[in-house]
Amino acid sequence: MIRLFVGIPLPPSLRRQLGSFAAGIPNARWTPEENLHLTLRFIGEVDETTAGAVHDALAELQAPAFTMTVGGCGTFEGGRRPVTLWLGVERQPALVRLRDKVESALVRVGLPAESRRFQPHITLARMKDPPLPKLHAFVAGHNLFHDSVPVTSFVLFSSHLGRGEPIYTAEAEYPLTADS
Ligand code: ATP
Ligand code: MG
Repeated sequence: MIRLFVGIPLPPSLRRQLGSFAAGIPNARWTPEENLHLTLRFIGEVDETTAGAVHDALAELQAPAFTMTVGGCGTFEGGRRPVTLWLGVERQPALVRLRDKVESALVRVGLPAESRRFQPHITLARMKDPPLPKLHAFVAGHNLFHDSVPVTSFVLFSSHLGRGEPIYTAEAEYPLTADS
């Protein structure tokens, strides 16, 4: 079995910049710089045959390159507490269309449909009971950060969960068609 997800990697310069944000919140597990990414579609554990079918389906997908806008901080809650700290990604049509194409390709392969709404984000940290004033100060201090990222491909990642941070490996990269 192999744990897979489809994502968009971030350029090293942006990862470095976001990596430098990683301070000021006790009880936060910051995403290591090399792991910062946007998840288009989480797949989970599949067998090798399914993984091959997923790859074939993604390789056939056609979608245009676009520019992605990132910025604004927010949190996802778990049990009424903030557990995920993220940098926002604009829900722009080209991104949503790409994720919809990925979704239909995966459903055609036989994977169960994703029922959760697509909320594009870059996870900066996972938190456990963070002190709220510190969290709010972090958000206030980084909310105005924004950047534009050219997206010319998307990637099938494997995720190896071990004792420490997960190890993501780009298993295949799929080019988007040139902007017209
Ligand atoms: P860990 O689980 O150890 O915290 P992780 O969440 O980064 O590490 P994975 O669980 O393999 O590693 O997830 C890979 C990517 O898919 C991450 O961006 C994660 O947020 C996202 N993801 C994981 N599970 C889901 C899910 N059920 N729905 C949507 N996205 C998910
Ligand atoms: Mg996880």
